[in-house]
Amino acid sequence: MIDAIYFDGQSSRRQPVTLVMHKRVVAMRGEGVKQSHRLSRLRVSERLAHAPRILYLPDGGRIHISDPRVDKMLKANGYREPRVVRWQRNWPLSLLALAGVLALLLSGYQWGLPWAADKAALHMPAALEQKIGDGELELLDESFLAPSELDPVVQARLQRLFSQMKQPRGERTPYRLEFRRSHVGPNALALPNGVIVMTDELVKLANNDQAVLGVLGHELGHVQRRHSLRRLMQALGVGVLVNVWIGDASSMVTAVPTVLLDQKYSRDFEREADQYAIDMMQANGLPLEPMARLFEKMGKAHAGKDDAASHRHEHDKQDGQRGKGRHTEEGDEEEEDSEPLDYFSSHPSDAERIAKLRAVDRAGK
Ligand SMILES: [Zn+2]
Repeated sequence: MIDAIYFDGQSSRRQPVTLVMHKRVVAMRGEGVKQSHRLSRLRVSERLAHAPRILYLPDGGRIHISDPRVDKMLKANGYREPRVVRWQRNWPLSLLALAGVLALLLSGYQWGLPWAADKAALHMPAALEQKIGDGELELLDESFLAPSELDPVVQARLQRLFSQMKQPRGERTPYRLEFRRSHVGPNALALPNGVIVMTDELVKLANNDQAVLGVLGHELGHVQRRHSLRRLMQALGVGVLVNVWIGDASSMVTAVPTVLLDQKYSRDFEREADQYAIDMMQANGLPLEPMARLFEKMGKAHAGKDDAASHRHEHDKQDGQRGKGRHTEEGDEEEEDSEPLDYFSSHPSDAERIAKLRAVDRAGK
């Protein structure tokens, strides 16, 4: 039995409780509090030194536990520490190689760090790129994605249709299309290893193959321009590069997963990817209107969620264009602290993009 603090998720009241875990069930007792939950129904915060473990309850409540014995209790009840933690520990090897590349480029320090970061990304050894992408996918699978439940016939059809499309300018950028169910709403993303993740939710929202193909074209654009890696390198930027320079790689170890999760693509990258999608759709004689309609639908979906959460996410809207909300799913899996979900907000709808798609479409007729 250990002591903990319970927050009901409605008020800011701290309620002292005692906690036991037995047979994969977490039971807590306190004044006026008596609850038990299956451990598998709870989200458990990552293990960090000097921070309490937090158990997130399905109803929005939280249990904060400072007693270090909680780690043992969790383990004894079948909880496995998520990959992110293990992954951080595996990073030193990759980082050593990465640090080598960066150190080389840092000899060109005077040309400016963003430039160096960009060049580093473009000269990253393919094996390392693969490794970073694999790591990202593992991390996402552990946290935000689940196996796809999309009809295999639909999956196969989309795979086939997209693979039959000509890439712009005769390019043959390798990619691998993966379907996943998303815990955080409709989205698609591109990883440095060439994996394009398409979520069931986006396919359903689109309800139109051409719209999905357009989004896949956009993601292939990110792959082709290596945006994911360039974004990572730019974000690791000044602070970490300087630390590598002075020989402290440890800050990089902690920075990498965080950076992966909270960076959005720059507007320039988004424009490039949109243009790529337009080029690809046109090269195949496909209309852009379905994609424009999908962006509109996504915009509406995000805007609705935004209203409900606006008091929490003011800082999200700094430049007004991006960051249209962290979308949580309704029901049990709703996440109170949705910090990392920004990763999935990288494709907010945007009146300018929609207008552009429609203009191109009209001009082509
Ligand atoms: Zn994008």
